Amino acid sequence: MNTGDTVIVDVDGTLAQFDPAAVNQWVLKSEKQWDPFFEFMRDAAVIQPVSSLVKMLKAQEQKIVICSGRPDSHRRHTLEWLDRHEIPYDGVYLRAVGDDQVDDEAVKQKLLEQIRADGFSPWLVLDDRDAVVARWRELGLTCLQCAPGGF
Ligand SMILES: [Mg+2]
Repeated sequence: MNTGDTVIVDVDGTLAQFDPAAVNQWVLKSEKQWDPFFEFMRDAAVIQPVSSLVKMLKAQEQKIVICSGRPDSHRRHTLEWLDRHEIPYDGVYLRAVGDDQVDDEAVKQKLLEQIRADGFSPWLVLDDRDAVVARWRELGLTCLQCAPGGF
């Protein structure tokens, strides 16, 4: 029996086309360089099947919560991209300022606590990165991995 009302959706590699090798130099190390990353990702193509699924879920009255390791300090870039591609959302949860050194999976674990504290009841997650997918599952959520995520 599913009692949740919310689907959590990642951005890079899940909704937005993402080549880890291309952005590795900026974001896959503990020292992050967000400006060139956002410059590069501004024109990222939407991953159409995931975008379609999210719209269908929203039409079925699911709440959509975007949850990304992108930084909250650069929130407007992420909102602009989501809006440009008409991705519906009820909340957007991003890496806290000062958490650049924290692993993606730990960032998302922390964000999950906030998502629940804000009243959402997530039951399903769409994500791509192996370590993050594993963490969602450890946390008891069903996670559908939409692309290879061994980076
Ligand atoms: Mg991702």
